[in-house]
Amino acid sequence: MYDCIIIGKGPAGISTSIYISRSNLKCLVIGKDETALRKAKSIENYYGFEEPISGEELFRRGINQAKKQNIEVKNDEVLDIEYKNDSYIVKTVNNEYETKTVVLATGKSRKTSNILGEDKFVGKGISYCAICDGYFFKNKNIAVIGSGEYALHEAEVLENVSDKVTIFTNGGKLPENRSIEVTNVIEGKIDAIRGDKRVENILLENKRSIPVDGIFIAQGIASSIDFAKKLGIIVQNNNIIVNDKMETNVPGIYAAGDCTGGLLQISKAIYEGAKCGLSIAKNLKNI
Ligand SMILES: Cc1cc2nc3c(=O)[nH]c(=O)nc-3n(C[C@H](O)[C@H](O)[C@H](O)COP(=O)(O)OP(=O)(O)OC[C@H]3O[C@@H](n4cnc5c(N)ncnc54)[C@H](O)[C@@H]3O)c2cc1C
Repeated sequence: MYDCIIIGKGPAGISTSIYISRSNLKCLVIGKDETALRKAKSIENYYGFEEPISGEELFRRGINQAKKQNIEVKNDEVLDIEYKNDSYIVKTVNNEYETKTVVLATGKSRKTSNILGEDKFVGKGISYCAICDGYFFKNKNIAVIGSGEYALHEAEVLENVSDKVTIFTNGGKLPENRSIEVTNVIEGKIDAIRGDKRVENILLENKRSIPVDGIFIAQGIASSIDFAKKLGIIVQNNNIIVNDKMETNVPGIYAAGDCTGGLLQISKAIYEGAKCGLSIAKNLKNI
């Protein structure tokens, strides 16, 4: 059992881990290499660098710094977080881990498909959370739009409520060595989501129209907002709401960095990581 699992190995996640591990607590950082930081070509406003540094290099150095301090950092994708018997189970593509606390440090989420019709039908047949809304589509025709492990995971959840679940990859390819198998897959590109008052069908580029009752958007990897919706964490304007100890409204779940909104800068992510790590140490050690 870990004291803390941090999701995200960007500035917020790594900073949190450094403060937690210095308090002699057992923590694990799980993250992927896709991060806002690696998109920054040249950083000139961060303290301590006379010459500009690339986001790629800063990202690499942050992870190495944590590893040098014997912090466990794994390259993996988190698919789900569940509350069970007074602890949390963090499910990844490769494993499951048990922990007392979780930190969401997954950066800013951009969770739209840009498919024509998506905006019109949000809440009218379009959802972003299988575990929250799947039940509304019991025994109905359900589409999952996405082509990664997260889409497979959402389809697996929905297969508990209907045996008519189809993954639409929208031109993408499902992972070759996938952890979850699904039966119905349509790989064609999507032209539009259509309907009158509610979603009625998906129109493919080849002009084939497929009737659907519900659509779950699960593009890319699960974001902090996806996890928040499943766990009942308060979200406002796509930002996780935290108090001054970086606690969310759900006991044991914290958040730091871009996913809490405000200034989207490295310095703020590092600051929130430090606050978060110290506050977890304080809470777990009752000091
Ligand atoms: C083009 C660009 C230029 C920028 N320039 C600057 C600049 O000059 N100065 C500055 O201060 N800031 C700059 N920024 C902003 C800065 O990069 C961010 O504020 C900072 O990276 C936020 O850190 P973070 O740890 O919150 O999130 P991120 O750095 O985005 O890290 C998020 C982490 O979470 C992981 N993750 C997400 N979902 C999952 C999942 N389901 N499972 C596992 N891991 C997951 C990601 O893979 C990643 O490791 C720039 C951003 C961009 C896009």
